Amino acid sequence: ATMPPLLAAIATAGRHGALVKSAVVMERLGTATRVAFDKTGTLTEGRPYLSEVRLLPGAAAGRTGDLTEQRLLALAAAAEQPSEHPLGRAVVKAASAAGLPIAPAEEFASEPGRGVRARVGGLIVEVAGPACLPAGDRDQAARDVVDGLQRGGHTAVVVRIDGTAAGVLALADRIRPGAADTVTRLTALTGTAPVLLTGDNAPAAARLAEQAGIGDVRAGLLPEDKVSAVAGLQDRGARVALVGDGVNDAPALAAAHVGIAMGRAGSDLALETADAVITRDELTAVPDRLAAYLLRPQPGF
Ligand code: ADP
Ligand code: MG
Repeated sequence: ATMPPLLAAIATAGRHGALVKSAVVMERLGTATRVAFDKTGTLTEGRPYLSEVRLLPGAAAGRTGDLTEQRLLALAAAAEQPSEHPLGRAVVKAASAAGLPIAPAEEFASEPGRGVRARVGGLIVEVAGPACLPAGDRDQAARDVVDGLQRGGHTAVVVRIDGTAAGVLALADRIRPGAADTVTRLTALTGTAPVLLTGDNAPAAARLAEQAGIGDVRAGLLPEDKVSAVAGLQDRGARVALVGDGVNDAPALAAAHVGIAMGRAGSDLALETADAVITRDELTAVPDRLAAYLLRPQPGF
């Protein structure tokens, strides 16, 4: 017997590294009109590296004793050790590479799209995006350092010790090979320009968007803002295919017409909740294997 076209398409996609979970999903891919991308781990390689450690002036005061850049990094790495987030992994990797001792963390808690918090020795260490900085003098000093780093295209995270901003870490990530090509082809396939939804800061997002050829950029989004952004597009009649890594966009993947997770970089939650999974670590699989189906079903593409 010949396979029904939808099933044949699913089988073909599967052989090429795109796992489509059902015929319904395959059909939805065929009716998507707009593609939205997450940034970190999706349009970027998701393997950011630490590029700078900045101690804030006067950070040595109090119970932290002589706080050095190395000690700051070691404390941040201790708090990030249990984290699944690419930024957290980058911090741990940099500390290990520098031969720093990484103390065990207790009471670890992570807030998707925001950061982590843990008890390290007797200290409460938080590593989080600058959006989490409350107003205050020291926080203003941190904000100034953050602004400078962001203007240089970096992602900056603030390290707080016992509630006080102590330093800032700068991280950078590379665009995925094929990202610009993917954007061009998706634009041609859907007839609409892709949109970037990111939790990262506006300057870093703009820089990446320019490299990828995306004009519509929404930055500084928390996981719930990504859901609203998808809902906003869909309220205006678009049917959104969202490509994400699920690290902080699992709710948005669920809210989209079709949620597509990057498999290798993606979190376990994303693999479970997404409608489709790119099982190879290649962004180009989206137009090659999935979007070939967008708007124009091609049996056996
Ligand atoms: P994206 O939406 O581009 O995938 P995320 O939403 O995952 O980016 O991250 C948004 C911001 O939240 C980061 O730029 C960072 O400031 C902060 N953040 C999230 N998780 C962590 C973490 N584990 N350590 C430090 N900062 C984090
Ligand atoms: Mg992400």
